[in-house]
Amino acid sequence: MSDTRQKLKTYQTYMDGKWVDAASGKTFETLDPYTGEAWARIPECDETDVNRAVEAAYRAFETGPWPSMTPTTRGKIMRRIGDLIAKHSEHLADIEVRDNGKLISEMAAQTRYMPEWFYYYGGLADKIQGAVVPVDRPEHFNYILREPVGVCAFITPWNSPLMLTSWKLAPALAAGCTVVIKPSEYTSASLLEFMRLVIEEADIPPGVVNVVTGYGAVAGEPLVKHPEVAKIAFTGGTATGARVNALAAQTFKKVSLELGGKSPNIVFDDCVLEDAVSGAISGIFAATGQTCIAGSRLLLQETIHDVFVEKLVAMAKQARLGDPSKSETQVGPVTTPPQYEKILSYIDIAKAEGCTCVLGGGPATKEESGGRYFVKPTIFTGVDNKMRIAQEEVFGPVLSVIKFSDEEDAVRIANEIAYGLGAGVWTQSVKRAHNMARRIKAGTVWVNTYRAVSAQAPFGGVKESGFGRERGHEGILEFLATKNVMINFSEEEHDPFAVAT
Ligand code: NAD
Repeated sequence: MSDTRQKLKTYQTYMDGKWVDAASGKTFETLDPYTGEAWARIPECDETDVNRAVEAAYRAFETGPWPSMTPTTRGKIMRRIGDLIAKHSEHLADIEVRDNGKLISEMAAQTRYMPEWFYYYGGLADKIQGAVVPVDRPEHFNYILREPVGVCAFITPWNSPLMLTSWKLAPALAAGCTVVIKPSEYTSASLLEFMRLVIEEADIPPGVVNVVTGYGAVAGEPLVKHPEVAKIAFTGGTATGARVNALAAQTFKKVSLELGGKSPNIVFDDCVLEDAVSGAISGIFAATGQTCIAGSRLLLQETIHDVFVEKLVAMAKQARLGDPSKSETQVGPVTTPPQYEKILSYIDIAKAEGCTCVLGGGPATKEESGGRYFVKPTIFTGVDNKMRIAQEEVFGPVLSVIKFSDEEDAVRIANEIAYGLGAGVWTQSVKRAHNMARRIKAGTVWVNTYRAVSAQAPFGGVKESGFGRERGHEGILEFLATKNVMINFSEEEHDPFAVAT
């Protein structure tokens, strides 16, 4: 065994308030994508561990204090969670960078903002209200209760592990649910650190938050199928989402799916050019393109196409590739080896489809980047929206530039795609901005900004980008079940054979 492997940090997973190994004793290694070397060992959970975690969550839901405590108390504990995240945000960001190779500037911004999700939903915990409903039955009193759905399973991807977990965990806890989280096998360490530094420290009762680390087919599937799991909140690829949805349907679970995207970033000739150029860059290159909302289709009005591309290439060319843990780095490595191969294969596809490569177009060498798994920021012009490079999610620093003539044409191109997650519009016309916002089929439309997020604003997709909403008031509804209660207070005798209407 090499020196590095001997030095690997070994994690345990957390369930029922205890730190445990996988029942099988197996572990797998997690890589640092910058160095390409393993840095930690993670428990490889399977169905036995899933059953143990779900049983703990089920017990905590049925008999534990979390769902039955007053919502005000839950809200206070959630504020404590927020404070603990704030205290450890730097450390959590460092672990994320180590595991997924994304920029410290992005990961630190995410972990710094993460307390807000817990403050927001902590504040909402005691504002979950039912309703009194006037009904067509005299002397009947009808009301609605909003109850926690039960045990929730979260399955998350590698690109923004803790932030995407927080979008689920904060509303689920506020609603009174208990949870089992299966993080991506590529990025489990930050969640385990979060459990130690935040969930344990906040004194969350045993069984309320549990983690099963491991692979999708071995740990994810038994979790989705488990009969005691009432709700699945999944973020990941569209093909995996379809599989998860089909499995969950067998036991009629409530499901929300945050899936892939191929978002149009649409620039009109009446935009502020510098802002739009910078928005196009941050839409695709800032996260190395490894974000579901990447503005990977840049739609340029033909009147400004050439000048825009010139400015875009000039700016993107200067992006500093390098060590993602350094704050001056602007483009980091690709997170996983298979993802690296996939991105390079899409670059070949675009070339074969006849697109013009005006920047990048291949891997960056160790001399250029200082590390492994780097792809140069790549821009293709002359892309037709029907091409594979325009229609399929690359999830890397590869931008397809597509020309359009007018508003009508832009709407058509934007919507001729299977996905519907995000969209950007750059224009100074208020009329055009509202028009486009209404006509684009997407869960989010940004105007004169891109990738901006806020705890209060709902997020999710349409079409093959999924369904359900995270964040904002709508986010908590995903974790609540509606119960109707009808009470007869009349003195009248009831004919048991009369038809109930
Ligand atoms: P992925 O679909 O490969 O994996 C996501 C998670 O699902 C992982 O935890 C994985 O282990 C698990 N999984 C895999 N197979 C499973 C199965 N059969 N049953 C249960 N679980 C299974 O996605 P990824 O490569 O980790 O992430 C990238 C994808 O995620 C991209 O398509 C991206 O667009 C999408 N994404 C979407 C959003 C959003 O909010 N819409 C956010 C981030 C990422």
